[in-house]
Amino acid sequence: MKMSKMLVATLREVPAEAEIASHKLMLRSGMIRKVASGIYAHLPLGVKVLNNVENIVREEMNNSGAQEFLASAVIPAELWQESGRWDAYGPEMFRVTDRNSRQFCLGPTHEEVFTDIARNEIKSYKQLPVNLYQIQTKYRDERRPRFGVMRSREFIMKDAYSFDKDQEGLDKSFNDMHDAYVRIFNRCGLDAKCVEADSGAIGGSNSAEFMVKSEVGEDDIVFCTSCDYAANIEKAETVGDKCEEEALLDMEKIETPNSRTIEEVSSFLNVDSKKTVKTLLYNVDGKTVAVLVRGDREVNEVKVANASNASTDIELATHEMVFEATNSETGFAGPVGLKADLILVDAEVKNMYNMVVGANETGYHLKNVNYGRDFEGTVGDFRNIEEGEVCPRCGGKVTIARGTEVGHIFKLGTKYSEAMNARFIGEDGKEKPFIMGCYGIGVTRTVASIVEQHHDEFGIVWPLSVAPYHVSVIPVNSKDEEQMRIATELYEGLIAMGVDALLDDRKERAGVKFKDSELMGIPMRVTVGKKIGDGEVEFKLRTGGDNETIKIEEVLDKVRAEFEKNNLKLK
Ligand code: ATP
Ligand code: MG
Repeated sequence: MKMSKMLVATLREVPAEAEIASHKLMLRSGMIRKVASGIYAHLPLGVKVLNNVENIVREEMNNSGAQEFLASAVIPAELWQESGRWDAYGPEMFRVTDRNSRQFCLGPTHEEVFTDIARNEIKSYKQLPVNLYQIQTKYRDERRPRFGVMRSREFIMKDAYSFDKDQEGLDKSFNDMHDAYVRIFNRCGLDAKCVEADSGAIGGSNSAEFMVKSEVGEDDIVFCTSCDYAANIEKAETVGDKCEEEALLDMEKIETPNSRTIEEVSSFLNVDSKKTVKTLLYNVDGKTVAVLVRGDREVNEVKVANASNASTDIELATHEMVFEATNSETGFAGPVGLKADLILVDAEVKNMYNMVVGANETGYHLKNVNYGRDFEGTVGDFRNIEEGEVCPRCGGKVTIARGTEVGHIFKLGTKYSEAMNARFIGEDGKEKPFIMGCYGIGVTRTVASIVEQHHDEFGIVWPLSVAPYHVSVIPVNSKDEEQMRIATELYEGLIAMGVDALLDDRKERAGVKFKDSELMGIPMRVTVGKKIGDGEVEFKLRTGGDNETIKIEEVLDKVRAEFEKNNLKLK
């Protein structure tokens, strides 16, 4: 590409709307532009990178035996009604009505669509397994779109759906996708780690996420410092502190005026917050669910939602619900005499002695309360693990880091095939539901994550595998005919070799050209200047290192060597 003909949309100023590096640099380098909140247009430079990432995804998906498909983004409501998700999905779904009042959505994900295809097209076990994928635009009316294409309302996803005849087949499909994802993120130059994730009602170790560590990530990832255990905090199991055994004391009601929070209660009563228990009340599909965790712990709402079979996200109970359950104002709930539909007791609380809890009476708490004697409930793991706690696998210590999810692999089992009656004839002649898996990669988010991991103060530093252009050839003075002649020759030589090269033939100062090339993150730069008198040019890698002076004839070999170093083939 000759830059005089190119839409160069670089910005010198840092746009005010952007908070994180990738968002700033994708705007500044001229990859994307905002159209509306969470909606972006991809400019030519952005499209080049997207295409490169998509091609890596496509190659690895094809290599793993999956077949490319392309569904419509517009999905009839009926399919979602069959699975029960039309009502469950909530305000994140973009819904549209056509001129005949028929309802549709703009697909946030495509399980229903692919289940429908399978039930129509696949009749027999002989046609299985099948894994269908697409690289397609998804729509989610996110509550908080932010960070550019990291969390947008329209984004590109690679989504795949596998159909197997049995569990063993699904295990293989799942592992194949895992391996393909490892290769995809490696090839993109992205350091992504596979971690255990929550799989909702399906349970088990059936879901894994590919996470990139990032301070601006919206997930907390738990890592063991001794073994290779890694899990999303939503899923990470807790072991819990052991308490010293104590004699059970008589329960006592004590006045605690104006003490509602754990800090207020423990300082008022002068007890360690580890001796207190907080009782949180949730509204789960209209039912009141109480959760008890030690005073200094945090409730894990995903674990609570799973244990209470919630159909959507759960929320804290309203004041009215609290009053109904406790007969008191908010801040005095406790397990003794509580009127809740379900009481979930974190395992750690079951093992505590003589604890302090709310008395279900405004202005009062109870002391010396004990599980089993004074109250009961469903005991389980309902809290978040904390930094420094015991690893559930090896007993080592865990640490917690922020991360962003770039991919997700999930064993669905028969969730959709049962709901939508998607069946095939098995070897025994009987009808069976497909055993399904689904696998997503956020393609636009992957691009942003690559920028997050590969940049410096001057701009993006693209890995060669995804770079929009591989080499920029820069004549220092475009008015100098000899410089232009040699630069053009080099540029044409590179193109003929299969290299995606840029020729900066713009009538701009050399400084402007260098800055743009750095901002756009072009991996190699060939500067054609005064040294051509000695038959020489300068060669520089964007990753750093010296500005090397080399012979004009060496340029093509030099570039070829970079491709080899990166295990990349030239076209
Ligand atoms: P998150 O927890 O970040 O909202 P999710 O669990 O909703 O993600 P999935 O439904 O598993 O995501 O979607 C598959 C992939 O699509 C994710 O791994 C992520 O890379 C990408 N993705 C999801 N939501 C968005 C979004 N709003 N903008 C950009 N990419 C997204
Ligand atoms: Mg989401």
